[in-house]
Amino acid sequence: MKEQEILNPFQIAQMQFDKAAEILKLEGWLRALLKKPDRNLSVDFPVKMDDGTVRIFSGYRVQHNSSRGPYKGGIRYSPEVNLDEVRALASWMTWKTAVVDVPFGGAKGGIICDPSKLSLGELERVTRRFTYEISSIIGPDVDIPAPDVNTNAQIMAWIVDTYSMGNKDHYSLGVVTGKPLCIGGIEGRSEATGRGVMITAMEAIKELKMKPKSTTAIVQGYGNVGSNSARLLAEQGIKIIGISDVSTAIYNPKGLDLKDVDEYIKKNKLLKGYSKAEHIEPKEKLLEMKTDLLVPAALENQITSANADRIQAKLIVEGANGPTTPGADAILNKKKIFVVPDILANSGGVTVSYFEWVQNIQRESWTYEDVIRKLNLKMVSAYKAVSELARKEKVDMRTAAYMIAISRVAEATKARGIFP
Ligand code: NAD
Repeated sequence: MKEQEILNPFQIAQMQFDKAAEILKLEGWLRALLKKPDRNLSVDFPVKMDDGTVRIFSGYRVQHNSSRGPYKGGIRYSPEVNLDEVRALASWMTWKTAVVDVPFGGAKGGIICDPSKLSLGELERVTRRFTYEISSIIGPDVDIPAPDVNTNAQIMAWIVDTYSMGNKDHYSLGVVTGKPLCIGGIEGRSEATGRGVMITAMEAIKELKMKPKSTTAIVQGYGNVGSNSARLLAEQGIKIIGISDVSTAIYNPKGLDLKDVDEYIKKNKLLKGYSKAEHIEPKEKLLEMKTDLLVPAALENQITSANADRIQAKLIVEGANGPTTPGADAILNKKKIFVVPDILANSGGVTVSYFEWVQNIQRESWTYEDVIRKLNLKMVSAYKAVSELARKEKVDMRTAAYMIAISRVAEATKARGIFP
């Protein structure tokens, strides 16, 4: 009988860590320390619903590591949120901030809920109560949340307000990033993850000697990361031939008109019913269509050992966190498909979050041009370091990115020493 593939994201994160730690010959105590989060907070809290009933919600804040700086990581709202998912996402944040070299550690949070089934008022009350529940462990110098799946700038604004109220009304701008511009947000934050995906994709295209003008791309997930990645790749001359969201997948080998798609989504919220392209059913089949570049930008475990063999792309740039399992990685490596891993490819978001945090602390206001220039410098230099190490050590890009990240976190941990 075929062995069942491991799909638990935390176990996957640990397997990826182990592979690189082994090559680095990392000391046993550091392996044991860095494999697990520092702190797992789990909360259950009541919220008054619009119909007068009271519902109990469950949420998490997991702090993985803070050797290099305050804990940092988004908050996700989804019915699928669970502790192991949040633990995986928190550890990927530690490696991400280290690989792109911003002075943060890693954390993540989540609430088990379906925000599409909550009114705006309910969403606000859920957010405020959750913020209160985790407020003792977050703060501008301690742990700084940000948006992730199904959370946005408005939700960040409620977090700032709730945290500031509980903190003797001290205006704590730096407690979250991804805020609206009017309360200390930064130009370019909402597109930053997609921009980082585009920057690393263009570096990989150069490395693989592909020509942008004759490159086609498919993007899975058309939310914050996916839609901005698609738009910015199209601006580089890449032809976007397929996109998908939770409702369906659309495909047109001649190229999609993204402006028209965006207009449709503005009116209808989802891609379902869009009439100017072929629909692919089931939507997961989109990943297997012929394309040069594939950008998974939805959720974990999308490319597994069940479908990796059928992937036709030459290059995969991971917009989502954890879209590829270790089993799939082995198959993709054998097929010589080049993978730019999540901890590098989607680190543009946390990089601009870092700029926002610095801007808040210094009470400065940077221009859009400042932000994208600085982001470009950071991402290109991180990409080059990973690609150089991958070639030198003859390992894949994911392992190289982990090796750089683990070395930096280990160095900081040793420099700080063990308390007491
Ligand atoms: P989002 O909520 O804005 O968008 C998610 C998109 O994925 C939506 O279009 C949704 O319809 C789609 N989707 C959901 N299930 C799908 C499925 N089975 N098939 C196809 N599409 C599906 O979320 P986001 O912020 O864009 O995050 C997407 C991914 O990127 C997540 O893995 C997240 O952790 C990661 N990420 C986000 C950021 C950020 O700054 N927002 C930063 C780094 C990584």
